[in-house]
Amino acid sequence: MKTPCIAACKNNAGICSGCHRTMGEILHWSKMDDDAHSQVMDKLSGETSTHACPECGSNTFCDIAAGKETCWCFEVEEREITETFDACLCRRCLEKKPAV
Ligand SMILES: [Zn+2]
Repeated sequence: MKTPCIAACKNNAGICSGCHRTMGEILHWSKMDDDAHSQVMDKLSGETSTHACPECGSNTFCDIAAGKETCWCFEVEEREITETFDACLCRRCLEKKPAV
């Protein structure tokens, strides 16, 4: 089974600091099929993206921007973000922010 896990998994207030999956994605991983795995992995790598992260400029994926009603970031504990961004941060940047 494919996995983005780099064996450095640590739950950092709702998101893994190693592979940047949400806890929900990690929890459901074994129940997802190959297609679903590829979709998540493409989003993690920026292969599939909706916009560039306003902080680091890397490609990132927002489920809301893609037409869904919820986003992966809803699962992540609220972060303390002092700057105002006009788009969602990528998983890496969001993970680094301190939880509120
Ligand atoms: Zn970023």
